[in-house]
Amino acid sequence: TKTPRVALVTGTASGIGEAVVDHFRELGHQVLAVDFNEQAAEKAEAVGAVFFRADLTDADACRAAVDEAVKRFGRVDILVNNAGIQHVSSIEDFPEAKWRQIVDLMLTAPFLLSQACWPSMRDNGWGRIVNIASVHAQVASPGKAAYISAKHGLIGLTKTAALEGGSQGITANAICPAYVKTPLVDNQIADQARLHGMEEQEVIEQVMLKNAAIKRLIEPAEVAQMVAYLASDAAGAVTGSSWNIDLGWTAQ
Ligand code: NAD
Repeated sequence: TKTPRVALVTGTASGIGEAVVDHFRELGHQVLAVDFNEQAAEKAEAVGAVFFRADLTDADACRAAVDEAVKRFGRVDILVNNAGIQHVSSIEDFPEAKWRQIVDLMLTAPFLLSQACWPSMRDNGWGRIVNIASVHAQVASPGKAAYISAKHGLIGLTKTAALEGGSQGITANAICPAYVKTPLVDNQIADQARLHGMEEQEVIEQVMLKNAAIKRLIEPAEVAQMVAYLASDAAGAVTGSSWNIDLGWTAQ
């Protein structure tokens, strides 16, 4: 779309969120980049986005981020829920605090941000909510109970928002990527290499790409293009859906 929009994007210090901010700026959108990591401030400034510091596990901080977008830009048209973390542990050993942190950040924050953006989107009769889920919103793997549960829940939130937004010009969709080349995955490669006593390249090929038909990692910019489509006017008939960008993982 050529129409400039106001977008709030979370988790923008690196990886997918950073790529979404860059691409939205290329499209001429105004962007509030929300992260708790100060590195996101420099990245935002470099492309003419506005940075807002918030720890999204805090409900008040979620609401403050939306308030800031409305104060700065007058409205919110596009919400991209992207901030996320991973913790790998068996259910038996999974720390309760980690479970709560992951659910707060990756399920409760998208709910609170959607809720806070809703009046602005409804009043304008136009809104786009794009939730960055994961292939792990569709299938599970051992050791990632909190992440997988939060991501599966995010699909439920997406579907509910789609039904409620249908008559108000608001769409909600999820994107389900397999492994994307980001710091989050670099850390996992290093962890898994240590865990299995393998070389990092072996981890990528034998563990991460085991189920992939296309044997490579996904580029953040490839996910950003899909976000931009779902956030565009052209995607007005698309809602409540989950878009796999998973190298064929879930085809089997
Ligand atoms: P990343 O680690 O590069 O970026 C995550 C961002 O979230 C960082 O900027 C970080 O500072 C921010 N963040 C973390 N905790 C926060 C908090 N409490 N408050 C505010 N910001 C916080 O990760 P990424 O790989 O780009 O992942 C982005 C999203 O994509 C996540 O939701 C992730 O689950 C999802 N995803 C990633 C992959 C992958 O392979 N990388 C695959 C599927 C889904």
